[in-house]
Amino acid sequence: MAKKKVILSFPPRLIQEPVTNVLIRQFDLQITILRAQVRPRERGRMVVEMIGEKQNFDAAFKYLDEKGVQVDPVVQEMRYMPEKCVHCTACVAVCPTHALSVDPQTRELCFEPSKCIICESCIPACSYQAIESQF
Ligand code: SF4
Ligand code: SF4
Repeated sequence: MAKKKVILSFPPRLIQEPVTNVLIRQFDLQITILRAQVRPRERGRMVVEMIGEKQNFDAAFKYLDEKGVQVDPVVQEMRYMPEKCVHCTACVAVCPTHALSVDPQTRELCFEPSKCIICESCIPACSYQAIESQF
């Protein structure tokens, strides 16, 4: 089994189509939608985590390409700016994956991107704009 986190960009004509259902049913992929920006008549974007067999990924990406859905890998979505951070820890309580934590030695904030699922819960929690999305 392989796991990939990707951004799917949809042209407006595909907004109403159940593309993720096809990925699940036809290509036997587990799909978790981590984030979505979908507005009528505009290009839609979703950050999804996909789990499945490699050959199914290949077929699914071919299907998406033929449908006109752009697939981009998620490299680094959340940006933590330590120079703006006052280490108030308000963001730690809302982080579901412990990607944000407090160093017990220094009492300063730690950000572990590998644990981040790009849920964006931390953005409104931070009054200092020390975390932003690069989406
Ligand atoms: S985006 Fe979500 S998972 Fe990532 S650091 Fe912020 S709260 Fe945690
Ligand atoms: S809420 Fe903002 S300022 Fe406070 S610890 Fe988190 S990133 Fe730093």
